[in-house]
Amino acid sequence: MLSIRQLSQQVINQIAAGEVIERPASALKELIENSLDAGAQSVNIWCDEGGLSRILIEDDGSGISKDELPIAILRHATSKLKDDGNTADLTNINTLGFRGEALPSIGAVARMKIQSRHYLSSEAWEINVEGGQVSPIKPCAWAGLNSGTRIEVRDLFFATPARLKFMKSVRSENIAIIDVVKRLALSRPEIGFSLYLDGKISFRTKNHGETDAGGRIRDIIGADLADDCLIIDVERDGVRLSGLASLPTASRSDSRFQFLFVNNRPVKDPMLKGVARAAYQDVLAKDRHPILALFLELEPKLVDVNVHPAKTEVRFRDPALIRGLIIGALRHAIGEVAVRASASLASQTIGALGKSLNQSDAPRFYQGNYNYTPSPKPVQTGFYEGMARDFTPQPAPAPMARAFDEPQTEEAQSQPATQNFPLGAAKAQLHNTYVIAQTDEGIVIVDQHAAHERLVLERMKAAMNETGIPRQLSLIPDVVEMDAVDCENLLSKADELSQFGLVIEGFGDGAILVRETPAILGKINAKELLKDLADEIAGFDNAMRLKERIDEILSRMACHGSVRAGRQLGPVEMNALLREMEVTPRSGQCNHGRPTFVKLSLNDIEKLFGRK
Ligand code: ADP
Ligand code: MG
Repeated sequence: MLSIRQLSQQVINQIAAGEVIERPASALKELIENSLDAGAQSVNIWCDEGGLSRILIEDDGSGISKDELPIAILRHATSKLKDDGNTADLTNINTLGFRGEALPSIGAVARMKIQSRHYLSSEAWEINVEGGQVSPIKPCAWAGLNSGTRIEVRDLFFATPARLKFMKSVRSENIAIIDVVKRLALSRPEIGFSLYLDGKISFRTKNHGETDAGGRIRDIIGADLADDCLIIDVERDGVRLSGLASLPTASRSDSRFQFLFVNNRPVKDPMLKGVARAAYQDVLAKDRHPILALFLELEPKLVDVNVHPAKTEVRFRDPALIRGLIIGALRHAIGEVAVRASASLASQTIGALGKSLNQSDAPRFYQGNYNYTPSPKPVQTGFYEGMARDFTPQPAPAPMARAFDEPQTEEAQSQPATQNFPLGAAKAQLHNTYVIAQTDEGIVIVDQHAAHERLVLERMKAAMNETGIPRQLSLIPDVVEMDAVDCENLLSKADELSQFGLVIEGFGDGAILVRETPAILGKINAKELLKDLADEIAGFDNAMRLKERIDEILSRMACHGSVRAGRQLGPVEMNALLREMEVTPRSGQCNHGRPTFVKLSLNDIEKLFGRK
């Protein structure tokens, strides 16, 4: 048994370093932040072997004076907080650093050399720290004309072999390094950055000038996003949110491309992924993630940046306000583009058909700005009849679930010309999947399955707003076995779920009886639906009412509607589909963000054939 005693400064530093310096990328993050705090205009970085053998960073900031060099490397020594001997104002932090921990932490676990020329001095000075051992300062050569600081960190974690063992491959350390540099570079478009990995340039930013965040985003995330995005700029209760978000059609398979900056500090907010999901719920598949670069500006006192030694997380005084602001702004922007699909997708389509069409003349997805008022009864007959407007509960099976099975009549032949409708007159169905329609100026190709899924969702939404979703009784109720927690969660919301058209009851331990399902969905796999809903509900705050998450719930449900691809459609049904799409909001994209139709103009088609 050891007796209690105070740890040595060296051990204290090593322990503390564990929190601040988790891997090479976190050391680099601290060093770049110091450069930015010092007012640097350019920051150049070299990392070798994933930053484990060497990290070198040079900036042209204010520099550190000879007298302060030995202080800079002391624990809890900082120039960034005003401490009157009693308190410091931690509620008003305007620098990236403030804890005075980075340099001593790095010095404790690596071989660190700091060289700096202060802006008020003509000499440069150097200090070395190796595994916590500080050498006396000495003058050094300085190549640059200006002030600045050059910090070299070699053999990171040599002094803490246990940590060294935890390092991943050079490749994954490099990925983390690139991520850190990109995040900081995105936050400061006015500053030039370069990053070399093992001597090879990894990336270099152009200097875009103070205001051009768009240019920086183009450099860092890619031109696709910058050209093809939603622009966000809103303000509520003194909080400003600006930045870019991808169109649903330009999503990614992971959330790595979601950047959040709070007063220009890159933060990793676990809330962001959920918020993005909520905002894009309707228009993006579960496993797809939008690309986001969002900048929040708010009074420093409304956010606590001192919650984590690495300062990568923040706490908002009013998190609900922030969540609401972001979700609202994204949803609004998504709604505005309603049927505008990704422009790059449009040009890909035409590119596949023919080559070298002039971009600006390329056919567009249907823009949806038509002046078209639906007549009171635009559809003569068929399964869509009245559905969009009339949501009184109906006996099962729902008309639309039935319609596909009905034999087609000849009445379609006598349909009036519908060519002047925005989506034209249906002419054919190809591969039992695509509806081809003729309009006055071109051709429309509709993906009937995608379109249908969207229409079901929008219909459910409309029904929800009116009388509630019509239900259909299961003749033989399904019994679905589920994990006890999921059962509990679902059953606690049973009352609310019934308004969504789903009636469930407990059935002993770990099972649920499904009595009624939403009629609009037709025949469904109850087990899959319940599982999906359980997943969704698990992500909610317990006290939250489902109505607050109506879009998520409905969108989950709509996916379970009968599959419409591969079903043969008659002319009446095809035209009914087109007419309903015309009057349905957001019908240009399916629930997963794919376009539901493409419009090619005659003009473009003529060009394709070299007629123009
Ligand atoms: P913090 O950033 O929290 O103040 P650090 O340990 O990162 O703590 O740095 C300690 C101090 O060293 C800073 O407050 C700053 O005065 C000085 N410093 C560190 N890096 C630089 C740099 N690149 N240029 C100028 N001063 C620096
Ligand atoms: Mg710092």
